[in-house]
Amino acid sequence: MTKPTPAPFSQLPLPPAMLANLAQLGYLEMTPIQAASLPVALAGQDLIAQAKTGSGKTAAFTLALLARLDVRNYAVQSMVLCPTRELADQVTQEIRRLARAEENVKVLTLCGGTPMRPQTASLEHGAHIVVGTPGRIMDHLERGSLDLKALNTLVLDEADRMLDMGFFDDIATVVRQCPKERQTLLFSATYPEGIGKLSQQFLRNPKDVKLEERHDDSKIRQRFYEVTENDRLHTVGLLLNHYRPVSTIAFCNTKQQCRDLLDVLRAQGFHALALHGELDQRERDQVLIQFANRSCSVLVATDVAARGLDIAQLEAVINVDVTPDPEVHVHRIGRTGRADQDGWALSLASMNEMGRVGSIEQAKGREVEWHPVSELKPASNAPLLPPMETLQILGGRKEKIRPGDVLGALTGDAGFAGSQIGKINVTEFSTYVAIERGVAKDALRKLNAGKVKGKKVKVRLMDED
Ligand code: ADP
Ligand code: MG
Repeated sequence: MTKPTPAPFSQLPLPPAMLANLAQLGYLEMTPIQAASLPVALAGQDLIAQAKTGSGKTAAFTLALLARLDVRNYAVQSMVLCPTRELADQVTQEIRRLARAEENVKVLTLCGGTPMRPQTASLEHGAHIVVGTPGRIMDHLERGSLDLKALNTLVLDEADRMLDMGFFDDIATVVRQCPKERQTLLFSATYPEGIGKLSQQFLRNPKDVKLEERHDDSKIRQRFYEVTENDRLHTVGLLLNHYRPVSTIAFCNTKQQCRDLLDVLRAQGFHALALHGELDQRERDQVLIQFANRSCSVLVATDVAARGLDIAQLEAVINVDVTPDPEVHVHRIGRTGRADQDGWALSLASMNEMGRVGSIEQAKGREVEWHPVSELKPASNAPLLPPMETLQILGGRKEKIRPGDVLGALTGDAGFAGSQIGKINVTEFSTYVAIERGVAKDALRKLNAGKVKGKKVKVRLMDED
């Protein structure tokens, strides 16, 4: 973990006009991620920078790309890829503010959901910096309206969110058309698996700058509850209503326990899905997609079924049964409390599981914390609902559907904000898009009535079944 030390911008090799502009903007000191990444970026090295939202990542890459910009050369010298139009607009604004120290820096936003022609016209007039979504940038490259020959700095901003939205292939297509001799800067709030893949393929000896520990035991709060066999499954619902986690994995020791718990949770109105060995690949994909995109509150699983899962945001793990193996226990609860969030690890234990609890205490070298079930009071009368719903579009890679097409259809004619749209997963025959719960029906209607990629599509709202 890098220790943040307060540092003035004047430590950096920046022109006096830039320092004056920063002071005018009220940027008196570098934020920790800026202090850690700017020396590397200004030295021309490739970089992977990870820090939470709001930590000042935009200025960290903007100062680097402005430092290399030659205003007299009317060619695109830097490009920033962003996941949505709103984020691209924010980045463009910040670049414009920071570029005020120099005259006539032209920054252009290239995103879907608006006509191509005005963008093409602006590109013909010359732009120094383009900021856009991978899909629309790709369209401009295909039509030859965007020339990247003079590009010296490529930024992948919010890389984790771009991967969430299924942009890996589009990013790859765009990056392959950038000059080999360039600096690539990757910024991300979290560090999912795909980031390593992006970096391996498109960055050159990148320096890693991380401001968060990926894993911090102190962020996992563990509590044990004593239950009888009769009220074990019912108590899971009490935990959910009391703690109200958005995403929970409930671990059971057996498949039968998974099935029983699923029945109980559904009867109580929870949105739950089970992951078990009998699912075929497509069913397993659908369960994991709905859980990871936050349209399912509880994933019920055995240890075997959950092997290899990488779920970034998990507020709680519930051990419905105590596992006989203390190492498995540590592995289960390690799935919560990642990155910058806290997590709950809640365990139910009956009298005849006390021996297993003892082994866990031995392995931890400390006693576990017991809480009475009577303490579990619903935190709200409203049912616990997942924040998103999933729409399934019948059509995927086979039909050459790209995430950008779906994003464009929803944020363009349909008029939704990028922030209302969650993960987009394109599989071979289907595309899954997460959309805010309140507007999912409206989105369903508009998508069914409109077109995706110029074609009519069949869309359905997925419900657990
Ligand atoms: P991130 O991309 O990490 O989510 P942003 O780049 O959007 O964060 O920055 C968050 C806010 O912090 C913005 O309003 C930005 O203007 C402000 N900011 C960035 N750097 C500094 C700084 N060195 N001093 C003061 N404010 C800053
Ligand atoms: Mg940002």
